[in-house]
Amino acid sequence: MTMNSFEFRTVPAMEMAWGGANRLGEIVAARFAARSVLLVTDAGLVKAGMIAPIASSLEAAGFSVAIFDKVVADPPEIIVYGCVEEARQAAADIVIGLGGGSSLDIAKLAAVLLSSEQSLGDMYGIGRVQGARVPLVLVPTTAGTGSEATNISIITTGETTKMGVVSPQLYADFVLLDAELTVGLPQVHTAATGIDAMVHAIEAYTSKHKKNPLSDALAREALRLLGHNLIAACKEPSNRDAREGMLLGATLAGQAFSNSPVAAVHALAYPLGGHYHIPHGLSNALMLGPVLRYNAQAAAPLYAELADVLGVKGSGDATARSEDFVAHMQVLMDESGAPRRLRDVGVTDNSLAMLAADAMKQTRLLINNPAEIREEDALTLYRQAF
Ligand SMILES: [Zn+2]
Repeated sequence: MTMNSFEFRTVPAMEMAWGGANRLGEIVAARFAARSVLLVTDAGLVKAGMIAPIASSLEAAGFSVAIFDKVVADPPEIIVYGCVEEARQAAADIVIGLGGGSSLDIAKLAAVLLSSEQSLGDMYGIGRVQGARVPLVLVPTTAGTGSEATNISIITTGETTKMGVVSPQLYADFVLLDAELTVGLPQVHTAATGIDAMVHAIEAYTSKHKKNPLSDALAREALRLLGHNLIAACKEPSNRDAREGMLLGATLAGQAFSNSPVAAVHALAYPLGGHYHIPHGLSNALMLGPVLRYNAQAAAPLYAELADVLGVKGSGDATARSEDFVAHMQVLMDESGAPRRLRDVGVTDNSLAMLAADAMKQTRLLINNPAEIREEDALTLYRQAF
């Protein structure tokens, strides 16, 4: 069998270390010559006392440390500008993003804009970033977005619209995976972000155009880790094995979908974030069930393989195994404790048509879905999720 040509990119270096964030100073000092760091995070983590020991570790290793802690969920452009301004004032020569997906996304753009004449508006789209950036280190505190391993930043540009910057410069130089940072996540966040990571693996594995042997290998291992650890991480928050399995799984899924892009679950999830400010992970968790059922036939051979990856019991042909896979995912989602219906998170019946119309604008994602989705199909899927 001939192999399709493909390209694969990812971050050049990662370290997985329980408690590693407390040694961030020595870890980063050994790898980079820069000594003036801008730490990009959110006020919640500062308040929770998670940032102070990390900043101390950096200072003890000889860094001057400025902290930008104004990152919010669904960050608008003004947060990017504020972050770059802070970095300029601090004469930062290295940027460290530490937090959820939003903090990592902002850190990526700050590292690019800090040494660039290009405007942010010029960077939206694929491959539009020009020139080099300052060194960039990412440290995720959730096991979900996989942003630490992707070349994507998502920014809110209007009332309900988001735009993405997708460029190789957004791959970090170094990623620290310290699953101890995820121990304090409440169950519902652990569940929703963990399911989002599973969506990344599933959609990368079934992606229609850029699926390739490397993204497949990463997606399979990601799904195996996530599927085996989700419930334990939700029910036993300080279970180290479960937390490490989830974080590694989310990062591997990020590596996969950065090369083999996500599809309809994300296309239908984005309007929920835009109109209702439902967090990214939860939006995806809410839409996964209906989209899996919708795709089950078109993606049957691949879903059947994923049933094996998850160790789902059963035998039969691809169609039967595909159904086993979908049923298993439903059970995992039910047990995780994540909200399961749109109506439970404030979505109203009369907005479903608007959401469906909005989802159709996500052509960049919809083209990757194994089965075609028209506007009336999107509406049906929202109704099923309602
Ligand atoms: Zn996602």
